[in-house]
Amino acid sequence: MKIGFIGLGNMGMPMAINLAEAGHEVTGFDVQAEPQAPLTQAGSAEEAARDADVVITMLPNGQILREVAGKIIPAMRQGAVFCDCSTVDVDSARAVAEQAREAGLGALDAPVSGGITGASGGTLTFMVGGDAEAFATVEPLFEIMGQKAVHCGESGAGQAAKICNNMILGATMIVTCEAFALADKLGLDRQKMFDVVSTSSGYSWSMNAYCPAPGIGPQSPADNGYKPGFAADLMLKDLRLAQQAAESADADTPIGALALQLYDRFVTQEDGAGKDFSAMLPRFETRGHGG
Ligand code: NAD
Repeated sequence: MKIGFIGLGNMGMPMAINLAEAGHEVTGFDVQAEPQAPLTQAGSAEEAARDADVVITMLPNGQILREVAGKIIPAMRQGAVFCDCSTVDVDSARAVAEQAREAGLGALDAPVSGGITGASGGTLTFMVGGDAEAFATVEPLFEIMGQKAVHCGESGAGQAAKICNNMILGATMIVTCEAFALADKLGLDRQKMFDVVSTSSGYSWSMNAYCPAPGIGPQSPADNGYKPGFAADLMLKDLRLAQQAAESADADTPIGALALQLYDRFVTQEDGAGKDFSAMLPRFETRGHGG
């Protein structure tokens, strides 16, 4: 396939390279990064999109996505598919998909989980919203860039799945960290706490697969000085998107709102910026009952 790839940052570059190494013809564009071999360089987003069967975008946020979509949708050929893999707000995902469909294009929102390691290893999970025909066209590409692609429903459903998942993850990580800090103050050994919780009803991915306590459970960023991993800044972004979506859909999400407040404080007022999102644990260790 001829693929246009726009947004060649930490995630986009390795994803685009995996597609090119699998034999697809990939033309890349980024306002900052130069496409690496075997990608072909385009002089503009429009040029990368013009002859493509599929255009993939991997951009920082919804506003930039809307700007880029406004430029490339008129340049794309009829019947081609516009597939956005960025994490953006549900409203932007739907607006861009609508614009693409009106121009005679297929449209998918296909955010990912798996991070930079998943992007370079081709083991991402794609959560996809949009019509079945467009999904079928892009599915072989998801198989190269990832290990699993779930077609979640209509446009916006991929972003909805992503932020619901990450709202659960953020809240669960916080409560796992505060439980370890409480256990410390109660004189409960961390290893014993892990042995009990990881096999009891308090178990979760945060505890069992990504334990925030150093030296406990499987290897995780806690064992590497809380170097990300999944950065607290990115968790904050996803929690903001979740609350934005909750407001727009009139959903009551009190724990999600509190998780947002706590990650906001962690990143903007404490030392959370640039650290893994599980580095909440050392913060809770220093706090008392009043917060
Ligand atoms: P990044 O900042 O490394 O990459 C974004 C790229 O987009 C940059 O290279 C930037 O120059 C480029 N860009 C910005 N405006 C542009 C424009 N107008 N035209 C062309 N290129 C433009 O970010 P990333 O870590 O690669 O993340 C990309 C997306 O994936 C984000 O939406 C993020 O939330 C999501 N995501 C990231 C991770 C992760 O672990 N990094 C995990 C899951 C999802």
